[in-house]
Formats: sequence, C-alpha cells, structure tokens
Amino acid sequence: MRASPIDLRPLEAVPETSPAAIASMVERARAASGSWRERSLRDRAAIMRRAARSMLGRRDEVLALAREEMGKLEIEGLFHEGLGHLDLLNGWVGVVEAAGLRRRVRLNPLKFGGKKAWVELVPRGVVGVIAPWNFPVGNLYRSVYPALLTGNGVVLKPSEWTPRTSQWFADQLAAELPDGLLSVAHGAGAVGAALIEAGIDTCVFTGSPPTGREVRVRCAQLGIPSSAELGGKDAAIVLADCDLDRTVAGVTHWALSNAGQACGAIEIALVESAVADRFVERLKEAWTGLRVGPGRFFDLSPLANRKQFDLVVAQVDEARALGAEVVCGGQPTGEGLFYPPTILDRCTPEMAVVRDETFGPVLAVVRVESAAEAVRQVNRSRYGLGASIWTRDLARAGKLARQLDVGIVDVNNHSFTGAIPELPWSGTRASGFGIANSGLSLLTFVRPRTVVVDAGSAPDPFWMPYDETLWDMGNLLADAQLMKLGGAWRIPFLWRRRVRRIREFFAGGTG
Ligand code: NAD
Repeated sequence: MRASPIDLRPLEAVPETSPAAIASMVERARAASGSWRERSLRDRAAIMRRAARSMLGRRDEVLALAREEMGKLEIEGLFHEGLGHLDLLNGWVGVVEAAGLRRRVRLNPLKFGGKKAWVELVPRGVVGVIAPWNFPVGNLYRSVYPALLTGNGVVLKPSEWTPRTSQWFADQLAAELPDGLLSVAHGAGAVGAALIEAGIDTCVFTGSPPTGREVRVRCAQLGIPSSAELGGKDAAIVLADCDLDRTVAGVTHWALSNAGQACGAIEIALVESAVADRFVERLKEAWTGLRVGPGRFFDLSPLANRKQFDLVVAQVDEARALGAEVVCGGQPTGEGLFYPPTILDRCTPEMAVVRDETFGPVLAVVRVESAAEAVRQVNRSRYGLGASIWTRDLARAGKLARQLDVGIVDVNNHSFTGAIPELPWSGTRASGFGIANSGLSLLTFVRPRTVVVDAGSAPDPFWMPYDETLWDMGNLLADAQLMKLGGAWRIPFLWRRRVRRIREFFAGGTG
C-alpha cells in the first residue's frame, strides 16, 4: 500500500486502468496524432510552450505532490520537477530542428542526374512511455517532449509509487494538446505490460534492469522498437592529486541528492590509498553535518517507498556483516522512511553495496592503489552508466576518460547532464543500450522515410533490356574504382548508347 515516506500515513489509492481502457487510449492518441503530425514543428512547439509556461507558474503544486508521494524535499522538487518545463522544451525544439524533420540530400549529379532526394523523419505513431518514480516529472522531459514535438501521440504509464505527480505534468500538457493525444494509464507492472500489448508503435522504458529486459524481449516479439534506460552503479574515481575541498563537496552532492535515488548517483568512491584517509575523514565531517528531515531547507529526504528502504537497509547490514567499516550513518533514523547519509569504508567486491545498485544515501569506499586499478574496476562492473574522475591533472583525466567503458564520464563533476536535451545519456552492459536525450535518441520517436524524385526524361542506363554494352560499362565502372582508368573515357559513350537502346526498345523496336 502507498504511504507517505515522511510519516507513513496512507496515501489515497489511484484506480488501476483496465487493459480495454489502455487500448482505447492508444486508439485515441493515434486518431489525434493525425492532425498533430500535419502541424509544423513551430506550431507544435508553440502549443507546448503554453503548457510549459502554465506549469512554471503552478510549480508549487508539483513540489507538493512529489513531497506527498515520495517525500521529495521541496528544494529538490523545485530543481528536479519544477523548473525545467520551458527551458528543456526549448532545448528539445533545438534538437529536433537540428535533426531536420525534412532534409534534402544532394546526390552525385554525374551518377544520378535529374534526381532529387529528401529524408523525412516520420513520427512512429503512438509512443508508450513506461516511467520510474525517482524523477516523476524530470524523467518525462526526455521522452514525452521529443515524442510530441516529432508529431506522435503518447500514452504514459507512470510509476505506481508516484502516479499523481506524473499525472500533473500530463494534465498540464493535455490541457493545451488535441483531445486524446496524451493520456495516462495507472497501475503497477501488469499495466505497463498491458500497454506494450495495446497497439503502441514504440516503447520508451526507464527503470530497473530486470524489468527493462522483460520489456525489451516482449517489444522485440511484437516487432515494436524500444529504448531502455536502466540502472547504474556509478563510481567516482578520486585521485591523490584531487582538489579535496571540491571533491568532497561534489561527491557529497552526487551521492546524496534525491537521497541517492538517481540512476546516475555516485554509489562507489574508488579512492587512491594516498588520499583515502583524508578523503574519508573530510567526507565524514561533512556528512554528519547534513540535515535529514522533511523541512524546506533540509538536505536529505526519506527514501521514497518501503521497497527501496528495505533494500538499502539490507545492503548496509550485509556490508557491515562482511567487514565494511561504518564511518557514519548505517541505521534508519526511526522516523518514516528516513535513512541517514552513510559512508562504508574498506568495501570489497563481494558486497552488494559494491556489486548491485543501491539507490540510497550510501557511499561504498573502495581503496585502490592506482588510477589504472580504478579504471579496471569500473570496466568490470555489471553496470556502465556513468563515472567521474576527480583530479587536478585535466590532461591525464582526459586520457583516463577514454579508457572507461561507460556512457557518461565527468571530470571533477558528476552526472549533471541527465536532463540536458543536447547531450546523450546512455550506458553499457546492464545499464542498457538505450539512448536518451540528443539527436541520437530521436530514432525512438521517428522513422526515416526517403523520398526520391526523378525529373529526368532519359531511362537509367542499367535498366532492361540487358546487353553487352551494359556489361562493358559495368566492368569499366568497377575498374575505375581500382584506378584502372585506361577505358574510362568510353563510359559516357556507352552510357549514351544504352539510353538510346532502351528508348528504342520501349518505343517498339527491339534494336
Ligand atoms: P522498475 O523497473 O521497478 O519500474 C519501472 C516502471 O516499469 C514502472 O512504471 C513499473 O510499474 C513498470 N513495470 C514493472 N514491471 C513491468 C513489466 N513487466 N512490464 C512493463 N512495465 C513494468 O523501476 P523503478 O523502481 O520504478 O525505478 C528505479 C530504476 O530506474 C533504477 O534501477 C534506476 O537506476 C532506473 N532509472 C534509470 C534511469 C536512466 O536514465 N538510466 C533514470 C531513472 C531511473
């Protein structure tokens, strides 16, 4: 049952959407997308901007919902769910514009005289979006915005833990959009599974690796393209020459923001031994000074739901039992689902806090002898979403960055690009190979259609009927590619002869 993570008060249930209702949402979205796709990008953007402005004006509402449903601090709600509506929409308009929804491609006039080609990016139809709870609005910018801007309809299945927060975003948009273009199906995994069966044309999934695998398999069976953005276990590589003040502040923020419940949160610090004692000491000083609680200017919210809370408790208990040193935190505060910032030192690879995603305010410190050892550990991880390198030597950091087998590498920062429309967000291994953000993600939402217009009156020389002239011409063309140019002068002559021959043949004479 859903309950407030702050005080465990039960939350109002949201009725589950039936499979029949989901199928009719998909149908309505498809019908509405007919006229939506005919509008220009400019028109679509203008309509969506009206909604974005309204969302900005009413931002307090979404902060309150995120606080109620997942205990999100209002200040984090403001930055994660409350102020990206317009800015990120404008970013997405730029990305779609740059991709060019209709683009002329110049063909070589010698080979393709009289022919003109265009590539059009055609909306796929209805996009099914299956979303997680950790950024119930923030996570939707990179799916719902590009889906709509490229001319699709959308059926959104938000997380069962944060249905009303995501619904708020959809309601604001839907108020400006054609009727039925965007709707929301509520419920848990079975409703997500039903959405995949309901006739959607493409699926954007964000969530955990096991669910992601199931979704991709089913989509593949149905012949539906899908994109899966999955979990992470990001490491910060802390080198001995780092600027310790900035590193401690940066690692703190990116380990604890959203109570650590971010796919791109720092969950492991791979720290060079030479700096490890000082790093852990400074981190402890900082983390014990952070405020855990529900107030507006507190630093740490509770965990968002019981499932997540139990997982964090179990992982920390296991690490302790396997010999990790609890530097600070390590026990629930006893109020709601609050869990304090927790540093576990001298962690080893067999511990779940090193191996598996934690999604909580917990940092596993692993001491390493060198940067090379840290790189090996990152590349051996089950996950491959992001990693960061903390050092004053930027040239060395650049070289190390290129050795990391992950999707996003930051130097002296971490994962702040997650919502930036221009920069790809993607991973390797269990983090999934879906691409969110940037023009590279657009193929999830559009398919290419090539349109070629031939304005020439002459037949193409390789058309039927075949003859010896065509044979000679083909061989001369092959030789020319090998720079055997002795007979190349004959090509235009043979070309004309072929055109004449085809014309004569189709004019009734057989030559
Ligand atoms: P989850 O996999 O439990 O659920 C995600 C969504 O899938 C929910 O809406 C859920 O109802 C739905 N679902 C569950 N079973 C389904 C099924 N069989 N078919 C279709 N849909 C189904 O994940 P979660 O706990 O909501 O989210 C946390 C996870 O999301 C973490 O692993 C986190 O790292 C990941 N995440 C990744 C990114 C990224 O960009 N890589 C961003 C945010 C969150």
